[in-house]
Amino acid sequence: MNNIDGRTRTCGLIGNPVEHTMSPVIHNSLAAMMGHDLVYVPFHVKSGLREAVEGAYALNILGMNVTVPYKSEVMNYLAGVDEKAKQIGAVNTLVRSEGGYIGYNTDMPGLYRAMKEEGIELQGAEVLILGAGGVARAVALLAAEKGAKRLCIMNRTIEKAKRILEEIKELLPRMSGTEIPELLALPLHAYEELQGEEWIGIQATSVGMFPNSDDVIIGAEGFYKKLKAGYDLIFNPYETQFMKLTKAAGKPAYNGLKMLLYQGIIAYELWNDTQVTERQAQIVFAEMQKAMQVQ
Ligand code: NAP
Repeated sequence: MNNIDGRTRTCGLIGNPVEHTMSPVIHNSLAAMMGHDLVYVPFHVKSGLREAVEGAYALNILGMNVTVPYKSEVMNYLAGVDEKAKQIGAVNTLVRSEGGYIGYNTDMPGLYRAMKEEGIELQGAEVLILGAGGVARAVALLAAEKGAKRLCIMNRTIEKAKRILEEIKELLPRMSGTEIPELLALPLHAYEELQGEEWIGIQATSVGMFPNSDDVIIGAEGFYKKLKAGYDLIFNPYETQFMKLTKAAGKPAYNGLKMLLYQGIIAYELWNDTQVTERQAQIVFAEMQKAMQVQ
């Protein structure tokens, strides 16, 4: 830990709960490695989000991450919101500016960077998203924007999947010149309707998250045969049931820890106007794995 003195800057996390966050590992490791006089602290905000954001600004806090359940609500209390974050409808990073914080979304570029590193290409791909919550919506936008050829959303509540696809049809022409992919919404049991075996499966539900580590969104072996690769956004447990079943079908599987790493790195770069190298990112990743007791 840094030597804290009168010049030390503070960054932090606002959320409820925050007890199990990995973000301090990311930011405090980066600060130590890069020689920045900065500490990162989680703040458990049980209520009073507006007061928390205004209080943080008054306390000269340099930047904030925002997590569940505040990623949408926080947009009401900012001096401005980045265009991309507006389209995604969620802010996870606050950057200090004149008169208040500006909200950004670093989750999606974080996931994109993580997928690139794993060699997963969205351009021209067939992308299958499981879930239709806040993160699934953002992943769907990302896949469409990056030129996915086909996009399918499977969800327990089918109306939510359909709504996201409608939003994509409306938003995409305004976001980029990309063509609208072939769009499909399916309930979870209807996986046999998926054509082919080249789907990049992105697990974006909360099913299978610790402590319910034995749960899985779809248990049928036949589903996993349809996948080219499986990407679970959950990282605790380190290997989810979804990943185990993907691997059992002979396909590569990844967890969400690299997404978490890169969303943190992009936030750190915004706060400190700096560039984190790939080597530094790898060192932080090793620290995160150590904190999770893997390796
Ligand atoms: P959310 O908005 O609450 O959405 C939850 C989704 O899970 C919905 O689609 C919901 O289906 C589905 N679901 C929940 N329980 C279910 C059940 N028992 N059976 C079937 N479906 C169920 O959550 P979110 O904010 O999008 O987060 C989703 C996941 O992303 C979480 O696991 C979170 O850990 C992960 N995440 C990872 C990172 C990272 O950096 N790696 C960052 C953010 C989030 P219905 O629509 O039918 O309710």
